[in-house]
Amino acid sequence: MTKNNKLAFSTRAVHSGYDSSSSHGSLNPPIYMTSTFCFDTVEQGAARFSGEAPGHFYSRVSNPTQAILEARLADLEEGEAALATASGMGAISATFWTIVSPGDHVLVDKTVYGCTFSFMEHGLKKFGIQVTYVDFTNIDEIKGALQSNTRVVYFESPVNPSMRILDIEQISSLVKDYCADIHVVIDNTYCTPALQRPLTMGADIVVHSATKYLGGHGDLIAGAVVGQAEMMEKIRLYGLKDMTGAVISPINVFLILRGVKTLQLRMERHCQNAQVIAEMLEAHPAVESTYYPGLSSDPGHQLAKRQMDGFGGMIAFELKAGFGAASKMLNRLNLIKRAVSLGDTETLIQHPASMTHSTYTPEEQAKHGITQGLVRISVGLECVNDILADLKQALDA
Ligand SMILES: *Cc1c(COP(=O)(O)O)cnc(C)c1O
Repeated sequence: MTKNNKLAFSTRAVHSGYDSSSSHGSLNPPIYMTSTFCFDTVEQGAARFSGEAPGHFYSRVSNPTQAILEARLADLEEGEAALATASGMGAISATFWTIVSPGDHVLVDKTVYGCTFSFMEHGLKKFGIQVTYVDFTNIDEIKGALQSNTRVVYFESPVNPSMRILDIEQISSLVKDYCADIHVVIDNTYCTPALQRPLTMGADIVVHSATKYLGGHGDLIAGAVVGQAEMMEKIRLYGLKDMTGAVISPINVFLILRGVKTLQLRMERHCQNAQVIAEMLEAHPAVESTYYPGLSSDPGHQLAKRQMDGFGGMIAFELKAGFGAASKMLNRLNLIKRAVSLGDTETLIQHPASMTHSTYTPEEQAKHGITQGLVRISVGLECVNDILADLKQALDA
């Protein structure tokens, strides 16, 4: 395994975790399509099961192809270890089921990905876990909401879909000052480690939907968890193996490894394209407001500059005429695809209130800042002039 933190990010994204001499010189890692692994002796099998001897024994626990991706993601996020899962929700739920018990409290930012919210509301609460939401841009609100039974503090930055920027360092140190045992968990899907590494800012665990930028090509569903080795092993052996069974397929592992090779290159172009699109939207007479941390007018701009290595490829905006105008505009697009998900080569546009965040009731949407007129765009890798032209013709009409 190659692990060399002195090499640059883009170099590690190509090489880390894989040594071709271990696989007949094969430039790309082999895909181990196997459910189980044969033991030379009963004793060897027993030793693997007990953890006394290294080695794989069943692919719901580990697989050699998966191990390469895990080593690579751990390296890129600057964590000790990682765990690849079948989906982002698999990563999030396996993490929570491992850490929390009935009677525990979880503190969450007021806006998170729709299914994460649904998992908290309908999953965790059903099993006697207390969940509260406050506005994490307000440090005093966080302070006031921490409790003696708080086990996890959970948020995203930038927040999906509102693009608020939360201060990872400040929030992490505040939580640790209150109680060092609370786990600060951050969903880093929007940024990927190419733009933001929360573990270096005091967070304990990073979760990902690898479906998005890490895979990068809209051809798979996957997730990942990164953090301390001991915790990753716990999540693997409990949250993943027993509680969710959200095991990733070796073929999807291969595709993510391929995607990650071009991660930095892609993120750079996503950022460049998004900046141009955001500036056009901000200046357009039909647009009420544009939310993108790369705009100097954005309330999160200075913090994003400190915390991120680029402002990302996600933009949200509101039309002056509200949802009626937004849906007409969306239906007029030709090149840009009307679809949920994000981080793909294709530019994707969607309406959070009726799509990704329809898991919130209308009252919850109002409370959590998901307005009817809000439109979310994941800026792709097409020539920016073509994306601009399509958006402009739809907005102008
Ligand atoms: C998509 C997404 C998820 C869920 O990931 P899946 O791979 O779809 O299960 C979680 N968090 C964020 C921010 C997402 O965009």
